[in-house]
Amino acid sequence: MTRSLPLLVDAFQRRVSYLRVSLTDRCNYRCHYCMPESGVELVPRSDVLTFEELERIVRAMMTFGVRRVRLTGGEPTVRKDLIELVRRLGALGLDDLAMTTNGELLRELARPLKDAGLSRLNVSVDTLDPIKFRQITRRGNLDAVLDGIEAAREAGFAGTKLNAVVMGGVNDGDLADLCAYAWARDLTPRFIEFMPMSDGALFTPGEFFGAAEIRARLVARFGALVADDGSGLPGVGPARYQRVRDGAFAGRRVGIISAVTEPFCETCNRVRLSATGQLHTCLALDDSSDLRSPLRTGCSDDQLLERVHAAVTAKQEGHSFTTCGSGGPKKHMVAIGG
Ligand code: SAM
Ligand code: SF4
Repeated sequence: MTRSLPLLVDAFQRRVSYLRVSLTDRCNYRCHYCMPESGVELVPRSDVLTFEELERIVRAMMTFGVRRVRLTGGEPTVRKDLIELVRRLGALGLDDLAMTTNGELLRELARPLKDAGLSRLNVSVDTLDPIKFRQITRRGNLDAVLDGIEAAREAGFAGTKLNAVVMGGVNDGDLADLCAYAWARDLTPRFIEFMPMSDGALFTPGEFFGAAEIRARLVARFGALVADDGSGLPGVGPARYQRVRDGAFAGRRVGIISAVTEPFCETCNRVRLSATGQLHTCLALDDSSDLRSPLRTGCSDDQLLERVHAAVTAKQEGHSFTTCGSGGPKKHMVAIGG
């Protein structure tokens, strides 16, 4: 792969510079917005990409100028030999190798991950109420997660973001506590709109809490917010940032990811790879392009690059998530990794 290739630019002149990689469809939690409580159909292990296959795809993306990769899942920390994989990907010379995790296993893994070359972490925490946390995640232990966040700080991770899916009547009253917790530890809180994945099967329309409502909640507690361009924050993500204008928390930053009510498709810079090697160019559409089959039937590097290029060229201009519980994509968040 020595020839010089054009950057990955789709038909709407958006450059793809960021790859999210799902390492597994398995998870130690069962968050109710992401997975059913039981009856989860797991893909056979032989269908999951090997480290060699993953590395080959990441290298192909790098040939096209992709410099940032985020590992996700399912829960990436339950992937066997994760540290070895991070070491391998960390050696490829990416600008940024990050991970999104539920944090349950971070006490044990934070330092080895840091030593292996992981640059940054996002940790998902929807509430600081242990009972509610257990209800939302069905299996999670809040103490372990908060301890894992401390372990990440001790290991030297900086710029960590704290992600929470906001659900009306569930955790919409917890936003200020989450902000105060995050800001006290130099973490950046980000609030995510509930997305109707899985053909709406896990979506509760009555719980939907949009970006405007989230902002109103924050203003009611912290006073006026001013728009912020997120400069200085590591990584260019989909969140729109605001800062608290006055008072004890003046200058503190909070992000909102509003894929449903205020989509950000015109600035979308990413594609996603599922654990089984499907390349998805949009979270909200049922598009995918199979990269595993060509890899397993001996395709050349050029053929792999052509497959990636064709998928990106076909990326749609936008999506229309609906909040009515249907009309969302059939694919599952746990399979694609957020
Ligand atoms: N297990 C890891 C975690 O929870 O951070 C990584 C995978 S998880 C699918 C990635 C992100 O997607 C998490 O922040 C999670 O809260 C979010 N998520 C899952 N289902 C969602 C949904 N239906 N709507 C919005 N965000 C969702
Ligand atoms: Fe697991 Fe993350 Fe989905 Fe929760 S959001 S069930 S932790 S993959």
